[in-house]
Amino acid sequence: MSERIEYVTRPREEIAGVLRRERRFLSAADIHARLSRARARVALSTVYRTLEYLHGKGEITERVDAAGEASYMFCEPQRHHHHAICRTCGKVEDVDCTAVDSFARELRKLHGFTLDDHAMEFSGRCRACR
Ligand SMILES: [Zn+2]
Ligand SMILES: [Zn+2]
Ligand SMILES: [Zn+2]
Repeated sequence: MSERIEYVTRPREEIAGVLRRERRFLSAADIHARLSRARARVALSTVYRTLEYLHGKGEITERVDAAGEASYMFCEPQRHHHHAICRTCGKVEDVDCTAVDSFARELRKLHGFTLDDHAMEFSGRCRACR
């Protein structure tokens, strides 16, 4: 049986399509594997280049894990918010940042520390995996 491989004329749209379909952080290798499964022929180097481009344009959010591996997801990097990531399926929920105000007040009161930036990520289980 011969494999039919579709040559993709617009790899950027294919890659953006994968990211739009999944609410989870995907590495370049993850995206490449999904495209290969869909028989879309896009080189891994093209995936890397496209992710860099989309990230540079501020269209996708980059996350670097403890091992230093970068993964990406469509969301609004311009709008300040946090991510709650499911340990089981990897699904990501956008979480508003309201609790930090009271935390910042406590920090100033108890430690005399003025908060001017923060990064937070939540992990646990999503509704479907609970
Ligand atoms: Zn987000
Ligand atoms: Zn889940
Ligand atoms: Zn915040």
